[in-house]
Amino acid sequence: MSEPLQLLPWQAPMWRLAAQAIEQDRLGHALLLSGLRGTGKRVFARVLAAALWCKTPLAERLPCGRCDDCRQVLSEAHPGYTALRVEEDKRDISIEAVRILCERMGMTSHDGRSKVAIVDPADSLNRNGVNALLKTIEEPPPRSHLLLVSERPLALPATLRSRCQQMRFAIPARAEALNWLAQSGAAAPAEAALALDAAHGAPVLALQLLQDKSLELQQSWRAALLDLAAGRTDPLKAATTVGEAQAPAFLRWLYGWLLDLLRAGLVPGGAADIEALARTLPRHALDRYVSEVQENLRRLEFNAKAQMVLEAVLIRWRALVALGQRS
Ligand SMILES: [Zn+2]
Repeated sequence: MSEPLQLLPWQAPMWRLAAQAIEQDRLGHALLLSGLRGTGKRVFARVLAAALWCKTPLAERLPCGRCDDCRQVLSEAHPGYTALRVEEDKRDISIEAVRILCERMGMTSHDGRSKVAIVDPADSLNRNGVNALLKTIEEPPPRSHLLLVSERPLALPATLRSRCQQMRFAIPARAEALNWLAQSGAAAPAEAALALDAAHGAPVLALQLLQDKSLELQQSWRAALLDLAAGRTDPLKAATTVGEAQAPAFLRWLYGWLLDLLRAGLVPGGAADIEALARTLPRHALDRYVSEVQENLRRLEFNAKAQMVLEAVLIRWRALVALGQRS
């Protein structure tokens, strides 16, 4: 991870609040950074950590990105910095890792400088992990800051949420997002706009889609659903087209796409195919289908056979569209 220590342009207002809190020495011991995937929570958390140590900050307390402290944050080697993630092949953040983090946070640093821990995603803490963290939050070591990052803050226990200072990351204005994507040079404007639609307006996610080419995959899924709706293919064939290996990614995308359908009309610049379909589908049936997709995603996580799950989801999709066409 060698992203520069640079704030994203739409985060400036939120940064001013954070910078003031640092200046006035009232930055919370526990902060919850929440918001949709791809809004830049992670970037913000690292910039915030670096700002607490940077020796030569720029205007508004922004970290310089060049001093020893900044460089150590960038390489995740800063002595006061701990980053907690889900290890590969694990479902949640291990209690051992949380205990080590709490210990590190509790140790007084010889130079009296801040300590920062980033837990990302915080909703991957299990119950024991949450309990261990709560103890640290209730009796916070001086100058310690725990940054919890989450796309699903409601999945966190209320006892934990209520003890955190809240920072909510919103989807930026479309023009600002497109401008940022254009400056990244990752794609032509038309392609960038498509990626932004696919990412539900979240620019960082849109950039990832452009960079890892999953946008093409999504276009093919969208085409498969529209083909099914138009009777140009059948559910079994469509399931094979999606493929077992892509089943989890497909279902996650489908879930997001359906939420877009439910909001259709509100989606800035939403694709015409989504809007056209949305007008034909009965709202209550769409709501039910969203739950079914979520349920099938869970079945996949519990090792249900991917082909069968895909077929089930696509058969129900065709039935939903048929219902819309009859009404
Ligand atoms: Zn610096």
